[in-house]
Amino acid sequence: MRAFFTAICIGLEGCDRMTPNTGLDNFERKTKLGVRTQSELRIEGVVMVTVVESKATLKTPAYAAKSAKSPLAPFTIERRTPRPHDVLIDILYCGVCHSDIHQARDEWGGSIFPMVPGHEIIGKVVDVGTHVSKWKKGDIVGVGCFVDSDRTCVACRAGEEQLCEGGMTLTYNGYERDGKTPTYGGYSTRITVDENYMLRIPKGIPLERAAPLLCAGITTYSPLKHFGLKPGNKVAVVGLGGLGHMGVKFGHALGAHVTVLSHSPGKRRDALRLGADDFIATKDEDIFIENAARFDFILDTVSAKHDYNAYLNLLHYDGIMVLVGVPEEPSPLSAPSLIMKRRTLAGSLIGGIRETQEMLDFCAQHGVAADVEVISIDKINEAYERMLKGDVRYRFVIDLASLK
Ligand code: NAP
Ligand code: ZN
Repeated sequence: MRAFFTAICIGLEGCDRMTPNTGLDNFERKTKLGVRTQSELRIEGVVMVTVVESKATLKTPAYAAKSAKSPLAPFTIERRTPRPHDVLIDILYCGVCHSDIHQARDEWGGSIFPMVPGHEIIGKVVDVGTHVSKWKKGDIVGVGCFVDSDRTCVACRAGEEQLCEGGMTLTYNGYERDGKTPTYGGYSTRITVDENYMLRIPKGIPLERAAPLLCAGITTYSPLKHFGLKPGNKVAVVGLGGLGHMGVKFGHALGAHVTVLSHSPGKRRDALRLGADDFIATKDEDIFIENAARFDFILDTVSAKHDYNAYLNLLHYDGIMVLVGVPEEPSPLSAPSLIMKRRTLAGSLIGGIRETQEMLDFCAQHGVAADVEVISIDKINEAYERMLKGDVRYRFVIDLASLK
């Protein structure tokens, strides 16, 4: 149990210079958040209240993986009570990203256990710290893949906190800025977050369909904007999963001609319904010859190892392919795949707070939201297995009411 002590002086200027020479009442008050010791000091008829808060941490139900080999199971974590710039959020929904599986199974290495995954969080503000100016109780907010950053580097000052030179603080599978307190994600009933690392969820987006926007949404919106997708461009989205289906929606909303490249032929009808203009099943290898040099832009969201060269050859001259999928294993790259048509291969990592807010507002304006299957938390292990089989249309979202 960690304790936070906050001394707050209310009511009088220069109160630290005064001597408690008249009356001093100490009393303990049980608050919703812990125990608050309050001293009332009366000096010449003026009442000064000094509050010394010894706030307990908040026991919070969660689901965690205890090791790379263990399934997710009920677990209790401690959330900090709000510091002056913190907000306490009651979590309503949390999306299930393929990165949760990669990390819970330590496929990228360096995972921190026990791990409470989840970085597509939607919730309601239930308490705010004394200095919070941006949020109030009752606000509907989002938290994405990071909850802090060094705030001083060039990237942070440019609003690209995800590229923080000091390293962003991941929402889970990371450590707070102290370098030792583990962070825990959204497979839990509440979270405490600094007010600068939260998003406002615009009215009109159903909340369970908004959750995946916090990762899958920004991860696909950001590269399309950053690398300059233009109306009329021919864009291919590779992999129709959580990220891919958002890529299709954004590509369509931005006025591009969208083609889905999928190794699941059965997703054709969905792809067209989601806004794609064309669908190509990649199981037939001839398609890589038939569609050579066809696209201006490829957004590759595939989570498993595949041949980048085959896809690069589908780019027109000066075309760009952006990787967002993070397969466990590396894949060889042949130089001519880039050289012959002056192609560019790039990567992209989620997006900063400012751009994530822009993306959410874009979604509200254009009627964009994720297609989701809402599950209770006890179905999470099954959901992971179904995702690995490509059996999700197109994002699982946990209803945290099932953990309360
Ligand atoms: P997902 O919902 O599981 O979708 C992945 C899609 O990849 C599948 O639906 C499938 O699409 C395709 N795929 C899977 N196995 C394949 C295989 N063996 N060969 C070819 N295609 C295959 O996963 P997601 O949540 O969208 O995440 C996708 C990847 O992006 C993950 O690696 C994740 O870690 C990463 N990610 C990156 C960022 C970032 O900032 N860069 C952020 C979030 C996630 P089809 O059935 O249509 O082929
Ligand atoms: Zn994610």
